[in-house]
Amino acid sequence: MSGERTLKTAADLLAAGLIDDGTVHETEAVARRYAVAVTPAIAALIDPADPADPIARQFLPSSAELVTLPQERDDPIGDRPHTPVKGIVHRYPDRVLFKAVHVCPVYCRFCFRREMVGPDGDGTLAPTEMEAAFAYIAAHPEIWEVILTGGDPLILSPRRLAEIMRGLAAIDHVRIVRFHTRVPVANPDNIDADLIAALKESGKTLWVALHANHPRELTPQARDACARLVDAGIAMVSQSVLLKGVNDDPTVLGALMRAFVESRIKPYYLHHPDLAPGTGHFRMDIGEGQAIVAALRGHVSGLCQPAYVLDIPGGHGKAPLGPDAVAPGPDGCWSVSDYRGGLHVWPPRP
Ligand SMILES: *Cc1c(COP(=O)(O)O)cnc(C)c1O
Ligand code: SF4
Repeated sequence: MSGERTLKTAADLLAAGLIDDGTVHETEAVARRYAVAVTPAIAALIDPADPADPIARQFLPSSAELVTLPQERDDPIGDRPHTPVKGIVHRYPDRVLFKAVHVCPVYCRFCFRREMVGPDGDGTLAPTEMEAAFAYIAAHPEIWEVILTGGDPLILSPRRLAEIMRGLAAIDHVRIVRFHTRVPVANPDNIDADLIAALKESGKTLWVALHANHPRELTPQARDACARLVDAGIAMVSQSVLLKGVNDDPTVLGALMRAFVESRIKPYYLHHPDLAPGTGHFRMDIGEGQAIVAALRGHVSGLCQPAYVLDIPGGHGKAPLGPDAVAPGPDGCWSVSDYRGGLHVWPPRP
C-alpha cells in the first residue's frame, strides 16, 4: 500500500490510499503552503480507515492548517533574533543550534519551524556559510555543546555528516555534539554502520534526541535503529510535543514514555505546542497539559517522566510548565518565568 518512496503530493497520498477524493483539493491547498512528506515507514503506520488516527494527524495535511490565528507567528520561538551567522542560533551561553540543513524526512503538521523548513525553506548551508558557522563556534570558547538540528541533520549523507563532524573535531572547547532527529522512526534503515561511523568522526561525546509523539512510532524497526545508536556508545534522550488528538491522554503518553525507556532513551522534553501558523488545532490550554502530565506521576516509573516545557515566544528560551512551575493568572493567561527570572504572559498579546 505505502510503496517504497516518500509521498510528497496530494496525488501521491491519494494513490497510496491515505486520503480520498473528497480531501484531495484541501490537501493540495495545504501542500502549496507547507511542505508535505510521508516516508514508507510512516505511511505503513497510518490506518486510513480511522478518521482519528494519531499518526495521520501528525503527518497528513488538514484544512485546519489554513487557519492562522492572530497570536501565531512565523518565528514562534524567536530563532532569528539569536542568529549571529546563518545556520547558528545562540540563545543560551554554553550551547548553540547548528542548522546545517532545512529539510526533514517527514514534515510534522505542527512543526515550529514550518516557515523555515521544506524544499522551499532556508536551504542547506553553502560552503562559505558552513565555514562562517564553524568560525563562529571556534571563536566562542564558551560553546561547550553543538546541537545539530534544522531540519533533520541525520537526513544528510554519511559523507556530508563526516565533513561536519571533522569540522567540529577541530574545535577543542566543543565537548558534546547533540542531534535532534526523527530519522530512526521515519527512515530506520538509514541508521546504519556508515552513518554511525560518520558521527564518530567528531571524536566528541554524542547524544541523539529522538523526536516521537505516539507509542506506535516505536516500531520494532525504529527500536532496532535506536539500539544501533546506543550500542555504538551514543546516549539518547527523547523529545515530544503534547498534541491534541495525538497524545493528550495519560495512557497514551505513559505508553510513549515507556517505549522510550524500553529503548534505552531517557524521556527529556515534552513541549507545549509552539505558536506556529496553522497549528491551533493541536494546542490545548496549559492547565489541560499540566493535568495530563500530573497523571503520569507515581503511576509510571520515574524514568518515564519528561519535563513539560514551553519555548517562550520572542527567543527567551524554554521554561518549565510542570504542575508546580506555573500558575494561571487573570483572563485565562499564564505567567511564565524564563531562566533569568523574567516574567512573560502566555499567550502573548497578538
Ligand atoms: C532548545 C534549545 C536549545 C537546547 O536546550 P536544552 O535545554 O539544552 O535542551 C539550545 N539552543 C536553542 C536556541 C534552543 O532553542
Ligand atoms: S522533524 Fe522537526 S523540523 Fe522537521 S517538520 Fe518535524 S518538527 Fe519540523
